[in-house]
Amino acid sequence: MLVAGANGQVGQHVVRLLAQAGHEVRGLIRSEDQAPTIRDLGGEPIVADLEAEVSHTVAGCDAVIFSAGGGPGSGAEKKETIDRQGAVKLIEAAREHGANRYLMVSSMGAADPGSGPEKMQPYLHAKAQADQSLKDSGLAYTIVRPGSLTDDPGTGTVEAAPSIGKRGEIPREDVAQTLVATLTAENTHGKTFELLTGDIPIKEAVASL
Ligand code: NAP
Repeated sequence: MLVAGANGQVGQHVVRLLAQAGHEVRGLIRSEDQAPTIRDLGGEPIVADLEAEVSHTVAGCDAVIFSAGGGPGSGAEKKETIDRQGAVKLIEAAREHGANRYLMVSSMGAADPGSGPEKMQPYLHAKAQADQSLKDSGLAYTIVRPGSLTDDPGTGTVEAAPSIGKRGEIPREDVAQTLVATLTAENTHGKTFELLTGDIPIKEAVASL
């Protein structure tokens, strides 16, 4: 499994949980300094820059989990080069290397970027375009659109549906648990769903999609 954004706040949870579940995890990071963190979590680091050549990082993997992003402090240019183009590069690499499964960490609001707040427009458009590229890719994809992320401890319970109809929050740890449950859930292939904190156990919520 290749985790892009492995040193990120969601990404670190994903690496740890995948390794605990017995998967071989490759963590894509952009600095050698981050390698010990990935090893400590049970993953194998690979250093690459999503703004440069990354195709080789997918070689030998069965699946890609894209949880990278320019971050809230970055401008429109980084939304384009990392959130959109970075995700698309790994979609193309997944096709090239036969990694048939692709999980995208998208965002609530990406279903209708134009209705989001003005300052979120570049981000939401980049996410929406990356999601569309994935839908068109022919890969066995799942697009996960969480609400606002928090650093609260995971609760193990969520609300998940194609369209939830309200905004809200979710702990990053619960997003990661949901990604790990989704990875092997064939019922989620070709699906897009929104995700908030809620009261349904994660496996049950994923199975109901
Ligand atoms: P995060 O902590 O900012 O992690 C993003 C990761 O992407 C970081 O590890 C960062 O590397 C990496 N990255 C950035 N540029 C890169 C590049 N050029 N090459 C390789 N890696 C690069 O984000 P998060 O909070 O875990 O969020 C995970 C995902 O959820 C993101 O896709 C985000 O857009 C999405 N999301 C966020 C929210 C929210 O409320 N914040 C809501 C919905 C969805 P460094 O560690 O070196 O910085």
